[in-house]
Amino acid sequence: MRKYTTVIGLEIHAELLTETKIFCACKNTFGDAENSSCCPVCIGLPGALPVINHRAVELTVAAGLSFGCEISRYTVWDRKNYFYPDLAKAYQISQLYAPLCIGGGVTVGGRFIRLNRIHLEEDAGKLIHSRGGVKIDYNRAGVPLIEIVTEPDLRSAEEATEFVERVRRTLVYAGVSDGKMEQGSLRVDANVSVMPEGTDVYGTRTEIKNINSFRFIKSAIEFEAARQSELIESGGRVVQETRRYDEASGETFSMRSKEDAHDYRYFPDPDILPLIITDADVEKIASGLDESPEKRLNRYAGYGISAIDCETVLANKIIADFFDAVVAGGIEPTEAVNAVKGELMRCFNAAENKDGLPVSAEDFIKGLKLVAEQKISRNGFKESVNHMFFERKSLDAVLEEYKLVIKEDRGLIDGAVAAVIAENPKALRQYKDGDQKVFGYFVGQCARLLKGAAQMSTIQAVLKEALDKA
Ligand code: ADP
Ligand code: MG
Ligand code: ZN
Repeated sequence: MRKYTTVIGLEIHAELLTETKIFCACKNTFGDAENSSCCPVCIGLPGALPVINHRAVELTVAAGLSFGCEISRYTVWDRKNYFYPDLAKAYQISQLYAPLCIGGGVTVGGRFIRLNRIHLEEDAGKLIHSRGGVKIDYNRAGVPLIEIVTEPDLRSAEEATEFVERVRRTLVYAGVSDGKMEQGSLRVDANVSVMPEGTDVYGTRTEIKNINSFRFIKSAIEFEAARQSELIESGGRVVQETRRYDEASGETFSMRSKEDAHDYRYFPDPDILPLIITDADVEKIASGLDESPEKRLNRYAGYGISAIDCETVLANKIIADFFDAVVAGGIEPTEAVNAVKGELMRCFNAAENKDGLPVSAEDFIKGLKLVAEQKISRNGFKESVNHMFFERKSLDAVLEEYKLVIKEDRGLIDGAVAAVIAENPKALRQYKDGDQKVFGYFVGQCARLLKGAAQMSTIQAVLKEALDKA
């Protein structure tokens, strides 16, 4: 069998983080009671008129700026007509002829993957299939959605997966989308074709619709590429069609033949005026953008943090923001990264709610400083982070409640020192003979006995005095 190169172009849909829907004042939320956030506009009652939500436009421009797209100064809205029960109006308001963002790209593993466009449109409702029949929830209808379309530049399932992860991260950092694939805020259509290795004429593609997890992006593309190459090798031809990925069997199945743009009878929506975007609008949005993950990566590399640690911190913006606050609070970056990776992320990974952190950076910094001053032990710090995190208490409260501040009892220390000296006559002789190395051994024995009840500096001072007198 000949070897084949896989060619992939993606269409990534991301729901925007607006308060309200794109053409009405209904709330844009997830998980509310079915059909509780709907109105005549988003369920398409005759005569209802759409009004554009400018925040949705701003977030689309923010996405475009993050990916280096050219921002259109003039944009229009088109009706894409088709019938499906989740689309009550029987048309979707979208952008075919004048998308908001054009070009741009994302670098993945050193390769630049070009974007074709990013356009803004409205999401459709959701069908809920169950034994008793099908229900329709229109809460999602009219939620602002961007579609990010790539050129067919991707060459493997891994690269495509990595690309989506990069796109997701950038959108989250820019505050454009929450990027939650498990809630459907991010959905991927993969266009896949194969061509014999060494040739450069693209084969016929199929489109796999609505992939909703990173794992499935990889397995769906791998299955589809293998299916196509085997088909061609056995003398068959790939037909251009829309397919769906079945998660249980790991296979793709034909859904329908591919529709063309003219099948949708696109035409300009007469209810909404074209939108003019000025240079000042674009500048304002650009200046409000948070530092991108790529820029943060460069900054972190300058701190002398390993590449793996940079990725770990950057993988979640909540963690990265926290890390930045800890560094800004005066903790050395290398120390901060260890504490964040260790004490904080251990709790975060175990937490159910990952939408925020119940520990303040101030308390975290204060705790690290107490460790440096030997007022609490490292283990005491770990314990206090745990209590602060899961019991939602302040550092002062948990230090008090769990008695984590080292309170020195001089009698106890004297006793421990005396006991250790008495138990080690040989080491004492060595010390008296001028062997300074055994001092460390004595310190270790005392610390073990005192289990965090004394600061190192106190142990050293008391021990030195006792040894010289012994
Ligand atoms: P349509 O609008 O009909 O879906 P487009 O030309 O906009 O077609 O392409 C849609 C997606 O298909 C894009 O992401 C593009 O990169 C991808 N694509 C186009 N040709 C191929 C091909 N031969 N193999 C893989 N992907 C392709
Ligand atoms: Mg398409
Ligand atoms: Zn509405």
